[in-house]
Amino acid sequence: MQPSPFTEAISTLASAGEIWIFSHQRPDGDALGSSLGLGLVLRQQGKKVRIFNQDPVPDLYHFLPGQESVEPVPAEAPGRNVLLVALDSSTWERIGPVFHAWKRPPGLNIDHHESNTGYGQVNIIDASEPSTASLVMRLLDDAGWKPAADAAANLFVGLTTDTGSFCYRGTTSRTFQIAARLVELGADPSELARECYQSISPPRFALRRLALQKIQFLAGGKLAILELDPGMFAESGALASDTEGLVEEALTIRGVEISALFEIRAGGALKVSLRSKGKYNVSRLAQEFGGGGHPGAAGINFAADPTPNQQAVLGRLLSLFP
Ligand code: AMP
Ligand code: MN
Ligand code: MN
Repeated sequence: MQPSPFTEAISTLASAGEIWIFSHQRPDGDALGSSLGLGLVLRQQGKKVRIFNQDPVPDLYHFLPGQESVEPVPAEAPGRNVLLVALDSSTWERIGPVFHAWKRPPGLNIDHHESNTGYGQVNIIDASEPSTASLVMRLLDDAGWKPAADAAANLFVGLTTDTGSFCYRGTTSRTFQIAARLVELGADPSELARECYQSISPPRFALRRLALQKIQFLAGGKLAILELDPGMFAESGALASDTEGLVEEALTIRGVEISALFEIRAGGALKVSLRSKGKYNVSRLAQEFGGGGHPGAAGINFAADPTPNQQAVLGRLLSLFP
């Protein structure tokens, strides 16, 4: 019988001399929460662990225990004795160009994106899991490695942010069971909610206000379109990471089925974020343009030609509402 990926992952982690943990660039609550949660537990198990991201930890997540130890990805790959672990990253490229240039596949790839390409040597991919953090928790349970309060708080943040505070589809009784376990282990839901949802910076709010002033409703109010350009970042003083949560804002409106955010970057790249209340699978649509994600939350990156690419995605979105 083939060993399960969980068994293989646990023995890979247990036998590693040193472990380096990575997650997708422009990290969100789940990328950071799963990385720090796993990293802190492994450190407690006596492992030498380093945690990396291509981009700095956004201000909003400076409350996460252990976040000060997150390092930028170095130019050189480490020796072969170091186990590379990728978390919450649907593709190898999403970890960022510095890591990708090492041309060394991660030994372990743990993720909950249905579009994950299985680029690791050992892959734990479960699209039924609402967050990578909860998938990590299952792995820790299997291994018998108990998170301390600091790790539990990180895993809870990954779970609450990726489920939209336990509201999105994919939130099941098991999600609440894992959340309950994390609370028993020391995660404080009200304190973490205050940090995650009631602590946005004034520039982030100013950017949100600029974007919402120009929101467009198409397809009889079923499709909401938001746009961001470099001028709006300059005017608000917001950072690149301050877009998190904006596209979800339009879904709060009755009748809106899909919300799309088109973010034009200074160099002419275009980032598209798509959210659906559930009737439409935006991951499938994103994949038609080389992007991916989950049925309810997906993204696409275009390196250039923002205007025609935006028109193409918009045309496809409108075709969903005949
Ligand atoms: P975002 O809109 O960036 O918050 O992303 C929503 C979801 O789609 C997240 O789960 C991302 O991991 C995923 N995603 C975003 N952009 C891409 C992309 N270019 N390729 C694959 N997955 C993506
Ligand atoms: Mn993520
Ligand atoms: Mn995630």
